[in-house]
Amino acid sequence: MVMRSKLQRIFSSIVALLSLSLVFSLSPALAKPKLLPKPQKVKWLKGEGAAGPLTVITINNVTGSPGQTLYDNFLKKLPKQGLGSEGYLLEVSAEKTVIITPHTWGYLRAQQTLKQLRDPQGNYTYCQIADWPTDFWRGAHFLIPNASAQPAIKKLISEVLVPLKCNVFLLGVGYSYQFPSHPEIKQNGAWSKQQMREIAALCQQNGIIFIPEMGCLGHQSWGTPPHALLRAYPDFEEPSEIDPKSSDFYCRSWCPLHPQVNSVVFDLIDDLLDACQSSYFHVGLDEVFVIASEKCPRCRGKDPADLFAKAVNDLYGHITTKRRKRMLMWGDRLLSSARTPYGAYASSANGTDDAIDMIPKDIIICDWHYSYFEEYPSLRTLTKKGFHVWPAVAYDQRAARAFQYAARSLKGNKSLGTLSTTWCTADNIAYLLSSASPPAGFTYADKARARAKALQAVLAESWNPD
Ligand SMILES: [Zn+2]
Repeated sequence: MVMRSKLQRIFSSIVALLSLSLVFSLSPALAKPKLLPKPQKVKWLKGEGAAGPLTVITINNVTGSPGQTLYDNFLKKLPKQGLGSEGYLLEVSAEKTVIITPHTWGYLRAQQTLKQLRDPQGNYTYCQIADWPTDFWRGAHFLIPNASAQPAIKKLISEVLVPLKCNVFLLGVGYSYQFPSHPEIKQNGAWSKQQMREIAALCQQNGIIFIPEMGCLGHQSWGTPPHALLRAYPDFEEPSEIDPKSSDFYCRSWCPLHPQVNSVVFDLIDDLLDACQSSYFHVGLDEVFVIASEKCPRCRGKDPADLFAKAVNDLYGHITTKRRKRMLMWGDRLLSSARTPYGAYASSANGTDDAIDMIPKDIIICDWHYSYFEEYPSLRTLTKKGFHVWPAVAYDQRAARAFQYAARSLKGNKSLGTLSTTWCTADNIAYLLSSASPPAGFTYADKARARAKALQAVLAESWNPD
């Protein structure tokens, strides 16, 4: 009997513990919503339910407002330099919902967090949050898809990039636009001005900088078939010393000394600046392998660095000096492969790297490195020369974290943040991550899932790496 009663007591205790844990595991108070990006500081309050009425307070008007307690609670935990234009404080409780922020952008970011705190029944988990971005620019880079996929790209922006608090949308447009100035430069599936304007408006409404990219100088083909510029103007091509039909051939280039090339290219840039309503323009300039060709009567015998610098300076003269827009370019041709660990694609083995000393220092250099290295010396090389760098990563997340960490350790605020490159058309990512559905027979790009996953992780960690 004694044994039985002891066993009964033990059994009862186990049942009681299990019941208790069941109660706790079912308790809605413990089922905290998943917030992505993770806010910098969260204090969960007791309870959940409907949210009290919303008050939005600018940071200079906190004293005596409904946000005073919220502000006082986090005062000692805010960054020394302040919340920045995208930072915010947020409180959700039954009595009130409060957003304190210095800027509209902070209000937009707070709204995204608020949406994630809401369950499908419309109840909120009560909390106080202090939040601000770690990186200043948190960008996503895609290649432009066929114009028919434009509605999917809108969903990608509003359903994926906006909730992840991305603030730069970099679109590799190339020649996939119906250029009003040069209708002879044609590409199938090219976007209309109206389509581009809609993307520009959507980005603007959501506090996202929209930057168009057109690959200049190099990348005038993939393999043999020329892209639209060289199809329309074959004489702009820099003749390659390697047969374009051979397997060693990479991409065609234009000749930086051709007397007509700039006037056409500047028209195309103006068309895109107008369509995208952008204050920035990305000119590509990566992986230029055909340059200073012995087969070109203008470039033969000239220094590749001089020719590369001329192309950069010509583009800068139009985009920045004349049009007052900020220019961005990929950084690989400015880095020596002999003095860095990067290899002949992510750094230059064809003599262009001395151009680093011949170009204006207010060009933003997109320093791209997609492999893991112990160190990323280009960050110091470029910033010591006076450039701002925007480190670009891809789908190898170990490499991405190492490069992001190295960039954040740089002194002097010369790194703008992180650019997550997908190197596939944006519709791939839209179909994987948003409510957009692929058309029948759609074939996903190589590693599209890994690219989509990395994009989410990199953007979230760019806001808060913890
Ligand atoms: Zn030439």
